[in-house]
Amino acid sequence: MSKSKEIIAKDKQYYATSGRIPYYPLVIDHAKGAQIIDADGKKYIDLLASASALNVGHAPDRVVAAIKEQTDKMIHYTPAYMYHQPVADLAEKLAEISPGNFTKKVAFGLSGSDANDAIIKFARAYTGRQNIVSFEQAYHGSTFGSLSMSAISLGMRQKIGPLLPGIYHIPYPDAYRGLYGETEPRSAEGYLQVFKSMTENYLPKEEIAAVVVETIQGDGGLLEPVPGYFRALADFCHANGILFAVDDVQQGLGRTGTWSSIEHFDVEADLIIYGKSLAGGLPLSAVVGRAEIMDGLQIPGHVFTTAANPVCCQAALATIQTIEEDNLLQASTDKGAYAKKAFTDLVNKYDFIGDVRGIGLSIGVDIVSDRQSKSKDSQAALKICNRAYEKGLLMIAVAGSVLRFQPPLVISYEELDQTFTILDEVFTELANGQLANYDVSGQGW
Ligand code: PMP
Repeated sequence: MSKSKEIIAKDKQYYATSGRIPYYPLVIDHAKGAQIIDADGKKYIDLLASASALNVGHAPDRVVAAIKEQTDKMIHYTPAYMYHQPVADLAEKLAEISPGNFTKKVAFGLSGSDANDAIIKFARAYTGRQNIVSFEQAYHGSTFGSLSMSAISLGMRQKIGPLLPGIYHIPYPDAYRGLYGETEPRSAEGYLQVFKSMTENYLPKEEIAAVVVETIQGDGGLLEPVPGYFRALADFCHANGILFAVDDVQQGLGRTGTWSSIEHFDVEADLIIYGKSLAGGLPLSAVVGRAEIMDGLQIPGHVFTTAANPVCCQAALATIQTIEEDNLLQASTDKGAYAKKAFTDLVNKYDFIGDVRGIGLSIGVDIVSDRQSKSKDSQAALKICNRAYEKGLLMIAVAGSVLRFQPPLVISYEELDQTFTILDEVFTELANGQLANYDVSGQGW
């Protein structure tokens, strides 16, 4: 039995299935930059940035050094009782790099999920209102609050409900498909009207604490919004005392070429949350918001024993330093444009590519069975990912049919070229019917 097979067999016996979305039998041994090496020595290019937690790539030098240095000094203290320089430095840095021309403060947690819970808490406490509005198909996390804000899995809701009360969902302003089976997207005002009708019919705007957006809706299918929507939504919110909050856990910290992805939309957010990439893969999340909102919650409103521990904070400071010194915001924009052009060239060759969308290095490629009807072809998307995996690319499909292309921002142009050579080969195989009997059953979610 190969080493990988042995490890997988043990894992299947002991690791709870709830913790893993089934894709590939890949056992990772080590990784650097955009490269992953498996337990049997095979190399892969990571197009997932390990699910967007590694914008600066695997084992970046500055982050590794910062972790080692801090580990030698002290691994843990709890931020609830004591002060420590890395926490203060990181809070200052996050306030500085986050958009918004106002005084900011920062709270820390351990995951994107708890940062979303924090939005609910801070927004309710500050506004004195109970209701939160998020989007259909959103994924905000796995804690009860963030899961309640998510609307991606009916089965899960049925199994573990009731979820948190006071959470409502409105349609995401998808720029590709329309609402509820409509092929064409609505205008910004058309999408916004759904929310406005809701506030006129059963959810008074005076009772809404916050609207929470993912700018590009990540796990919902890398969806891009129609132009002007977020600006119009934010104007509506701010005119009615509703906080505008951004879940930037997946799209923030350089993924789209800016510190916060909301910077693309000419909108001032009251609260922004970061996670995933923040500490280069170590568990850390942050809520950055208007100081008056952030000071509205007392202990134990949002405190975790191991949040903001100095090792994670030093890793985060080194991550931000790497983005600044290696010009990775610009790299994301430039490499994103390069990749989008390469995908667009493939659109001309393969009619199963329905849409290529995204900003910077956050790109979604929608695989369809028919361009006219825009019908999703989940089987084809999974086949593409599986075949690409066999050829050394790590990529998954989200929302059934969408190839998720989010490599580390440090991916080289050579690795990008290699990626598109392989994808072209795989697309040809699919177009020629060579993947017809490929079995992808039981994969994805
Ligand atoms: N928000 C968004 C937009 C995400 O994509 C995710 C993870 N996919 C989360 C929140 C949850 O983050 P975590 O897994 O760190 O709890």
